[in-house]
Amino acid sequence: MNRFFVSDIGPDEAVITGEDLKHLVSVLRLRKGDHVMLSDGRGSECEGEIEHVEPGRARVKTGPWRPCVSEPHHKLTLFQCLPKAGKMETIIQKSTELGMNALVPTRSARCVVQPGRDFDKKLQRYRKVAREAAMQSHRGLIPEVLPLVELKQADLSIFDTVYVAYEGEKEQSLKHVMADRPGRRIALFVGPEGGFEPDEVACLVKKGAKVVSLGPRILRTETAGMAMVAQILFELGE
Ligand code: SAM
Repeated sequence: MNRFFVSDIGPDEAVITGEDLKHLVSVLRLRKGDHVMLSDGRGSECEGEIEHVEPGRARVKTGPWRPCVSEPHHKLTLFQCLPKAGKMETIIQKSTELGMNALVPTRSARCVVQPGRDFDKKLQRYRKVAREAAMQSHRGLIPEVLPLVELKQADLSIFDTVYVAYEGEKEQSLKHVMADRPGRRIALFVGPEGGFEPDEVACLVKKGAKVVSLGPRILRTETAGMAMVAQILFELGE
């Protein structure tokens, strides 16, 4: 069944607008009486029946809301150091499919790409990618794409566990450190194409991060985050 994110939710009805409405009408050609799944974008979902389609909105009669079964219980935030052009979209799309909860674009010393004045526009684009990937993969939540942070200034106090994937770490595997249960809110750091500076890793460790190896092969920056999200949720049975 086709899924839509709605924010305009009443006691027994919800309204679909904007791009989703266009998709519903022009691409899927849904009409009155058709059934859809609705997500509130915060982890709940319900089944609904289209009651009325008019210019600018479609009204859907909603059934009971329930927690979305596809949503992982563990909340993974990926601090992704800025990769070269176009890669961030891929990282957001694939990590959303795999169950990421939020992404923080992060600037570190070896980032080749600088955020630039149009970064706000890029953020809008990234959020659209997250929304579309969440719809496609039947998530109950749209992963947040947060504003840019400087690596050394990242606030890690809200996380139960922080893992830094460091190409210089040869011993400690992710599986091994996960033997200490990580808690529910987990942050992951992935470096840019040029990797991390040792003092960046030291700074994160000082804030409580655990350094991990992702194995004997060096992964591209756009692969490393996805690999971590997949492995962590697999180890946690999600
Ligand atoms: N330039 C670095 C080098 O040649 O060793 C490689 C950097 S890698 C392309 C980009 C990022 O992916 C790294 O900073 C790290 O966060 C992550 N990464 C890739 N492979 C990894 C591995 N085997 N273990 C841990 N982290 C890895």
